[in-house]
Amino acid sequence: MNFPPTRKVSKNMYIDGKWVTADSGNSFDVLNPATGDVIKQVADGGALEATRAIEAADVAFRDWSGTTAYQRSAYLYKAYQIMVERKEDLARIMTEEQGKPLKAARNEVQYGADFLLWYAEEAKRVNGEILPSARGDQRFMVLHQPVGVVAAVTPWNYPISMITRKVGPALAAGCTVVLKPAEATPLCAIAMFEIFEAAGIPPGVVNMVTAADPKPVGEVFTSHPSVRKLTFTGSTNVGKMLAGQASANMKRVSAELGGHAPFVVFEDVDPAHAAKGGSLVKFLNTGQACISPNRFFVQNGSYDQFVATFEERVSKMKAGSGFEDGVAIGPLVNQAAIDKVERQVQDAISKGAELVTGGVPIKSNGLDKGYFYAPTVLANVTEDMLIYREETFGPVAPVIRFENEAEVLEKANDTEYGLAAYVYTRDISRAMRMFEGLRFGIIGINDINPTSAAAPFGGMKDSGLGREGAKEGIMEYLETKLGGFSV
Ligand code: ADP
Repeated sequence: MNFPPTRKVSKNMYIDGKWVTADSGNSFDVLNPATGDVIKQVADGGALEATRAIEAADVAFRDWSGTTAYQRSAYLYKAYQIMVERKEDLARIMTEEQGKPLKAARNEVQYGADFLLWYAEEAKRVNGEILPSARGDQRFMVLHQPVGVVAAVTPWNYPISMITRKVGPALAAGCTVVLKPAEATPLCAIAMFEIFEAAGIPPGVVNMVTAADPKPVGEVFTSHPSVRKLTFTGSTNVGKMLAGQASANMKRVSAELGGHAPFVVFEDVDPAHAAKGGSLVKFLNTGQACISPNRFFVQNGSYDQFVATFEERVSKMKAGSGFEDGVAIGPLVNQAAIDKVERQVQDAISKGAELVTGGVPIKSNGLDKGYFYAPTVLANVTEDMLIYREETFGPVAPVIRFENEAEVLEKANDTEYGLAAYVYTRDISRAMRMFEGLRFGIIGINDINPTSAAAPFGGMKDSGLGREGAKEGIMEYLETKLGGFSV
């Protein structure tokens, strides 16, 4: 662990360049979801601390927004370097606090670091424009300037990369930030803010408030007049509620919300190859990802072999502590997550789905104290089942048969979500038709990992607003200003 021995565990909020306790002196427990053990306690902040952090960010904005892009780039690059140096520590904190296997945690830390590096570079490419005017004596100039103080709310499933994906572009743009991490994973956030501190980022430029109850902080984030932008990653319900509050106060909003990704397998590919890809991406992070495939549509002729390969691979996946070698399935975040999975699985079985493998919480091999659920495959899933409509956020793969392309395109699009979709086909025309026809923001064509700091990530419909990563990601933190000059 990364905590200097002199610091009290609850003195972990980072406001105006100082580590502070909650005004109340209260703290809350952070649990290891694999064992149920308390790892540490962290400060239980609220509206007062959030307000102070926003005020510090507001003051810091005056100087930070006046730095050059080259200066901001240097800070981000320094933070990137420290993050890479501390990669192993960060990964271990994540595995203990969030549960994912250590190898996956290392991958996430690298993915998170990539955003700092990408935006260290992108900071220098915020170009303006000179536009032609119809009047000979007029010139138009377009300038991009930082929006101001940014309030950021991040989730527990990717507790490090979701921080850098917001803080990286915000700082690059010249904004200052107040961040509230998820109550389940504040230790990852603390470790990241130690890195921002070590990189010498000036006081007030990045601030963090931890809280057991996110509501009062959310209320301040969406109402304080100094906050100009809310960036949120989490569930669709909370995202809609916060976006509503923020837009009532004319704050800009970006939101990465839930998903219900279709994974479409056509007969022209080897079903075993598609099942291998599907099983890898579905069970990453135990299905707790907004781009996790949530509906496997398999064409008739490939259906049986796909299900057989899926069963073979999924039934061998080992569940357990992320620190153990060979573990593919970590715990779910809490009991409510187990209950949701259980409800969807039982509903599907009661309506005629075939349980191919899994389908039960795991209590054996010392896993009874954690939130483990067996990796599960359900075949013959139909439209009347809850799992056909609802996001699962757990280790369940429902498989659905289809006949033809037109039918599957309609079914894949028949959801209020629009984040990720996956298609397996070798037919280039069909690949293009599906790419164009799917109403989702991210499409993997024979590709199970269509994500990168260099690529725009985000959804349509109820999956959110705006994009993160890529050149689009920094635009979310910039205003566009027009100058008309008479000469
Ligand atoms: P999940 O259901 O996956 O835990 P949430 O949307 O509840 O997702 O959580 C994502 C983030 O939103 C977390 O940081 C959480 O603390 C925060 N959050 C949840 N409810 C609220 C709220 N009412 N106001 C502000 N933030 C909230």
